[in-house]
Amino acid sequence: MVTQNATVMFGIPHYFRLGLEETIGPDELEKINVQLAGLKLPQNELTMAQVKPIRQKLDEIYGTIGARGITMCSGRAAFKHLLSQQGKQLGFESETFRFLPGRFKLKKGLSLLASWMGKNYQEKVFLESKEKHWLFSVADCYECTNINSTGSMCDFTTGFLQEFLTWASGGKFYRIQETTCRGKGDEFCSFMIDKDPVE
Ligand SMILES: [Zn+2]
Repeated sequence: MVTQNATVMFGIPHYFRLGLEETIGPDELEKINVQLAGLKLPQNELTMAQVKPIRQKLDEIYGTIGARGITMCSGRAAFKHLLSQQGKQLGFESETFRFLPGRFKLKKGLSLLASWMGKNYQEKVFLESKEKHWLFSVADCYECTNINSTGSMCDFTTGFLQEFLTWASGGKFYRIQETTCRGKGDEFCSFMIDKDPVE
C-alpha cells in the first residue's frame, strides 16, 4: 500500500492546499482554481511556485484583512493535516516526544517543525531559546522573497505554529508575534513565541 511507504513526505504546498480547502470550502477553492487556470486542481499537487499566486488571489477576493484571517486559519488546519498524515514520520508519535514534560515538549516539537520547514523551504529555519520566549526564524525562504507586507505567507506560519502549540499543550494558547519580516525588508521572518500560555 502506498500509505505504508514512509518515504512519502508531502511539503508545505500540500498542507497549505488542504488547510485552505478546509477553511474556505471546496467551492471557493474551485473558484480560485478556475481563475488561476494553470493550477489544475484537484489532480495536481501544488508546487511552492503556485502558492504565492494563490495567496495573492486571496487578497483580491477577500480583501487584505479577510485574506490574512483565512491564511492564518489555513495554517491552523494545515498543522492538523500534517499531524494526521505525517505525525509519525516527524516524531510526534514517539514516546520520547509524547512523555516530555511541558516546555520541553513544546521546544522539541518546534525544533522538529523547524527542521521539517527548513527542508521544505530549502533554506534556513532555526529555533532560539530566550528567557521568556522562543524565536522561530525563517531566512531566505521562498515565500519571503519579493513579498510585500500583504500577500505573504507569514500568517500561515503563525497559524501553523499556533495550532502545534495548542495541540502539544493540551489546549493552551500561546501568543505569537512576528517581530521581523522579510516583507518589511528584514533579514529574517522571526516569530516570537511566549513560553508561558495566555491565562
Ligand atoms: Zn514575514
